[in-house]
Amino acid sequence: MKKDDCIFCKIANGEIPSKSLYEDDNFRVILDLGPATKGHALILPKEHYANLYELPENTAAEAMKLAKTMAGKMTAKLHADGFNLVQNNGEAAGQTVMHFHLHLIPRYENDGQHILWKPGTASSEELEDIQRQITE
Ligand code: AMP
Ligand code: ZN
Repeated sequence: MKKDDCIFCKIANGEIPSKSLYEDDNFRVILDLGPATKGHALILPKEHYANLYELPENTAAEAMKLAKTMAGKMTAKLHADGFNLVQNNGEAAGQTVMHFHLHLIPRYENDGQHILWKPGTASSEELEDIQRQITE
């Protein structure tokens, strides 16, 4: 299904032009308009899923395979020194466009970006509590 008022549905399906890097029946990969680094791109499924929770398992698997292929190609062509995959779900996690997308972010020595988090602390008991909460 496509969603009428969704900009990424329109971009993924070619109704709004974009700088495409790849397209097949199920996905389009485009350059991000506000790139974190040179080559920052987005994998967009052509069907509308708001986020990872809604994404079918097989589409998730295909998106990750495509990410691997694109990461290899982009790293080689752009001479990147590393690569981040980022995927935000929900406003609390920084998602601003509510159509699932996977960020492909080539990284370069001294590119000045801060995509990693500030490490916190947790006691062994706290970790065990969380482990129980998730697994039981
Ligand atoms: P997120 O914060 O994970 O929802 O990421 C949304 C991303 O989409 C941001 O990196 C934006 O720069 C990017 N973006 C928003 N609108 C467009 C657009 N029309 N074309 C390309 N990228 C876009
Ligand atoms: Zn959409």
